[in-house]
Amino acid sequence: MITLNNIPGQKLARKILLNSFNRQKLASTYLFYGPEGVGKWSTALALTALLNCEKPLKDEAGNLIDACGSCRPCHQIGNLIFPDLLIAVPIPPHKNDKEAAELVAAFLAEKKNEPYKIITSTRQLTIPIDSAREIKRKTAIRQNAGIKRVILFYQMEKMLPASADSLLKLIEEPPRDTVIILTAADPGTLLPTIQSRAQKIHFRPIGKGDIANYLEEKYSVPAEKAGFLADLAEGSIGRALSYISDEDETSFRQTAFLIFKSLFVKETASAAATLSEMINPNNRGEVEKILTLWQSFLGDLMLLKYGGNNIDITNSDLAAELEILAARISRPDDFTRILDYLKNTVVSLRRNVHIRPALMALAFRVRRHINQSP
Ligand SMILES: [Zn+2]
Repeated sequence: MITLNNIPGQKLARKILLNSFNRQKLASTYLFYGPEGVGKWSTALALTALLNCEKPLKDEAGNLIDACGSCRPCHQIGNLIFPDLLIAVPIPPHKNDKEAAELVAAFLAEKKNEPYKIITSTRQLTIPIDSAREIKRKTAIRQNAGIKRVILFYQMEKMLPASADSLLKLIEEPPRDTVIILTAADPGTLLPTIQSRAQKIHFRPIGKGDIANYLEEKYSVPAEKAGFLADLAEGSIGRALSYISDEDETSFRQTAFLIFKSLFVKETASAAATLSEMINPNNRGEVEKILTLWQSFLGDLMLLKYGGNNIDITNSDLAAELEILAARISRPDDFTRILDYLKNTVVSLRRNVHIRPALMALAFRVRRHINQSP
């Protein structure tokens, strides 16, 4: 069950919300902003639970410190079936209302299962035009006494303009006993009128220790691997989760990519250390497979940088991450040099050189062609 105190990181957000709640100064509209996968969704649910919990926890001074997590409303909120939690989420294009309802249900089912999951699609996701209108209609019906209604617009930047008008009316005349929560990665993308009417709360990247704990406790990821994934997740549990995959081939490629990525984002010495920790020197076949994958990542980087529009890259699922890495290499010559190192290393591995020193040397050589700062 999600309650404020078991949300990893986000101490400041928790403090602001608890203080405002205890001083009866909650805003009628909040804008939670910050990277994907850091806890905006969880915190919205935790606030809903705090507002409606039947047996909230209190400190000695009588201040509320958290929801109980087990009463009926807490339970319903955790399962996303609380009648006064109205949620608008982004979904792919759909033909009719029935299909939209199914897509929303599928979205919610995934978020119920894993609140930090970053839901992506090859098709563009948008918050349906009717969402705000439909929610406005529902809010016209008064909730039972004592209930605090929460309206959550998740990933506001995906809301279509036609919907924003209805939302604006809702924010301008907030219904009684209702809190509106908007979430966005970048508040700058929202209409200024919406921004100015909401109290903004910044959600920061989560510490590596907290991310590693989450992976270990919820997914039984071994400590060493959890630490490694947390290291590369840039403060996002959602991103770390995307690196865990059930399917062996995908997960091998993911791991190979993460080691490749560490060459770009870490200091030279720690990048070399990662290589020597993560690659098993007793398995030549596996090392060769990793180096081959790296060649395909590098090929994609070159295409992204010099291929123009409408290019077809091999690792299209990693496009967003590859694009960031491509920016770290400045000249065509650097690409070809790195590619040569990779090919030469494969050749020398076949000649039975010692694997570990060969990989260390490779890390140092490759690093010379990557810009030190983003
Ligand atoms: Zn409760």
